[in-house]
Amino acid sequence: MTPARAEIVVDLAAIRHNVRVLRATTGVEVIVVVKADGYGHGMAEVAGAARAAGATWLAVATLDEALRLRAAGDTGRLLCWLTVPGEPYADALRAGIDVTAYSVAELDEIAAASAHAGAGLTARVQLKVDTGLSRGGAPREAWGELFARARAGEEAGLWQVTGLWSHFACSDEPAHPANDQQEQAFRDALALADGAGLHPELRHLANSAAAILRPSARFDAVRCGIASYGLDPAPGHTPDLGLVPAMTVRARIALVKALVPGDSVSYGHTWTAPTPTTVGLVPAGYGEGVPRHASGVASVGVGGAQRPIRGRVCMDQFLVDLGPGDDSTPQAGDEVLLFGPGHHGEPTAQDWAEACDTISYEIVTRIGGRMTRTHV
Ligand code: PLP
Repeated sequence: MTPARAEIVVDLAAIRHNVRVLRATTGVEVIVVVKADGYGHGMAEVAGAARAAGATWLAVATLDEALRLRAAGDTGRLLCWLTVPGEPYADALRAGIDVTAYSVAELDEIAAASAHAGAGLTARVQLKVDTGLSRGGAPREAWGELFARARAGEEAGLWQVTGLWSHFACSDEPAHPANDQQEQAFRDALALADGAGLHPELRHLANSAAAILRPSARFDAVRCGIASYGLDPAPGHTPDLGLVPAMTVRARIALVKALVPGDSVSYGHTWTAPTPTTVGLVPAGYGEGVPRHASGVASVGVGGAQRPIRGRVCMDQFLVDLGPGDDSTPQAGDEVLLFGPGHHGEPTAQDWAEACDTISYEIVTRIGGRMTRTHV
C-alpha cells in the first residue's frame, strides 16, 4: 500500500498496556476518559482498547459523545458530565448512560425525562461537587440541598445515585496547596452525603496526575485521560511507569530543495539560510493541527535524527532543515515523523508541547484535519 501523504497511526496495544499499568499502579477502578475523540486518538477505537484492558468504566464530557459511543457499539458503564438545559436525558436513560448533575434544577430535568423514558428504567445519576476548581459542580453552600433532593429522588425511585465526584485544579503540581484543600473538601462532601443517606458506588476525584502521584485521592476510582494515551500528566514529577505514547504522526517529504545562503523561507521570511541548506517540504500544516507556534521552535524526526522546522508553519505544509545536503540527504517520498513515542529518535508530543508553550493534551487533541488515521 502506498504510504499516505500525512497520517496518524494509533497503537491500540499501547493504550491497552497503559490502561493495564494504570489499573495495577492505582489498584482501583480506572475510568478511561475518551472525550474529544479520545484525545484525538479515535473515541470508539480507544474505547474498545480500554474495555479490552479491563476498563469497566469510560467517561466523556458531553451527552452527545456518550450517545455516539453507544451508537458505535459500546455497552459498558459510561459517564458524561457536561450538559446544558434541554439535553435529551431520556435518550441517556434508554442508552444506560450515567449522567452528572451539578444542581437540583438538573435533577428535576432528569426526573421529568425519566417520566417519559418508559417503565422499568431508572436513571443513573452522579453528583458533582465543586471543591475548588470553580468550574462545573455544586458549590459548597448548595451541597446540603442537592444531597437531600438526590436522596429523596432515590427513595421515590426517580433515579439511582451511582457516584459522587469532583475534579482537581492543580494535580500536575503535586506540592500545590490547592490539592490538600480540594481533597479535604471532597472528604467533607462525602461525609455530608453519607449523613444524608447517600451511598454511591463510585467516589472519584483524581485525574491522571493525581491518580499516579496522590494515593490518598484514589477513593473508589480514578479518571485517567492523558496517561491512558501514554503521555506524561505531570512532566517533571511523574515516576517512570513505562507508559507508551500511542500516537505517531508521520508524513512523506513532498519535495527537497537546496537553498543558498541568504535564501529565506515561508511566509514572512522569518528564517534565512546562513549556509548552503537543503530543506524538505512536509505536506501537513495547521490545517492538520500542526501548531503555527511550532514555527522555528519544534523539530521532526527524519532518518533517525531530529531536524528543526524552519520558517512559518503554513496551512498545508512546512519546511524542515535537512542539513547541508549530501548523498545521505533524505529524498522526496522519504518519511518524516512529526512526533511519536520516540522509539526512532523522533520528538514526542510532550517535546512539541514544550516547544510550543502548551500541553501535550492540546497537541494530540488538535492534530488531524485532512490526515488519515489508522489504528494498529
Ligand atoms: N476528569 C475530568 C472532569 C476531566 O475534564 C478530565 C480531562 O480534562 C479528566 C478527568 C482526565 O484528565 P487527565 O487527562 O489529566 O487524566
